Amino acid sequence: MLVVQKYGGSSVANPERIKNVARRVVDTRRQGHDLVVVVSAMGDTTDELIDLMKQISAQPPEREMDMLLSTGEQISIALLATAIGELGEKVISLTGPQVGIITDDVHTKARIVKITGDRLQQELAAGNIVVVAGFQGVNEANDITTLGRGGSDTTAVALAAALKADVCEIYTDVDGVFTADPRLVPTARKLGEISYDEMLELANLGAQVLHPRSVECAKLYGLTIHVRSSFHNQEGTYVREVAKMEKPLVVTGIAHDLNVARIGLFDVPDKPGVAWRIFAALASENINVDMIIQSAMRNNQNNIAFTVAKTDLAKALAVVERIKDDVGIKSFTYDDDVAKVSIVGAGMVTNPGVAAMMFEALAKRNINLEMITTSEIKVSCIVKAQHAREAVQALHEMFALATM
Ligand code: ADP
Ligand code: ASP
Ligand code: MG
Repeated sequence: MLVVQKYGGSSVANPERIKNVARRVVDTRRQGHDLVVVVSAMGDTTDELIDLMKQISAQPPEREMDMLLSTGEQISIALLATAIGELGEKVISLTGPQVGIITDDVHTKARIVKITGDRLQQELAAGNIVVVAGFQGVNEANDITTLGRGGSDTTAVALAAALKADVCEIYTDVDGVFTADPRLVPTARKLGEISYDEMLELANLGAQVLHPRSVECAKLYGLTIHVRSSFHNQEGTYVREVAKMEKPLVVTGIAHDLNVARIGLFDVPDKPGVAWRIFAALASENINVDMIIQSAMRNNQNNIAFTVAKTDLAKALAVVERIKDDVGIKSFTYDDDVAKVSIVGAGMVTNPGVAAMMFEALAKRNINLEMITTSEIKVSCIVKAQHAREAVQALHEMFALATM
């Protein structure tokens, strides 16, 4: 069998844990499997590198940011490969570019276009365990790119798909995918399995346990992901096509996201083409817009509010400032002290009272809703950041997720 394993930052946070991961890898090897191991940067290394860069520049060039951030994973692969070698197995470390992970050129959130993988195949054929740096690739111009925060998951799943691996395991610091972030909700329950669509929503809505694009990729290739703990051997959560859920749940999980900022545009002319110009300008800077609300017209003027990732806020405000006079936006504000809380569940579409239950749970805690959006399988609300934890707990309780 060919096994792809990915170990996250907390699983390789110090030398002791790296040696622990090496033992796991070697155990798998000695069961007779071929093995590709993807690793993240140690502990908080990526955050520390970002802080370091911010001390040099408030708006660093994204190409240089990628050059810097990719070093984190390079440290881990060298250390892990050495630890595996110490245990007597043949092993080699490779960077994203060495593996031929080719991406587009959107620095800091590049997408994988293809994986050439020749070197990887050669090393496997030579009997090596191959340790690959997650999160990084190389664009057509031969510049190093990174895949966005949490992107090592996507490296692992994309490699598993490209190599047609039999098993893809994501090892992390929790036991699997839970009904809510177990750090916020102590009674959160581990799910035995979850469908691609629900996992994709949860991940997109802030559940960091998997990078959204890793779930997209797994769905596209019909690959099962096993999310599990790197600290023990118990089974975790299988992400796969689920024909029949464990129970017909209405709400499967609660997600929250603190990487959100709201921008409000006031007195925007009410005429065709205005929204197009605003959002095309944001798109051309690769800024993802999430929720959009346009309020009812008054005196031929509208108010438009939308959310972006907090990490894109400065860029988005610069775009708004630039197009403001042309488009006829009178004024604008922003709020980066907000959070998004969401309920996700495939059963929601056939159950009209679900959104009302969500609003009731939040109202009873006196939590104000600043924006609301819905889709077939989710409802999201923007609340003040300080209310995020309480909101998630209230929703977990309202939908009785601990006991189902
Ligand atoms: P890694 O470094 O292994 O990639 P991450 O920190 O990226 O780990 O992801 C794991 C974290 O995701 C957990 O520690 C947990 O706090 C958080 N998390 C958020 N939502 C969930 C959820 N629904 N289920 C499990 N973990 C979650
Ligand atoms: N090291 C990167 C990050 O912290 C990628 C990852 O951990 O998946 O975002
Ligand atoms: Mg992660």
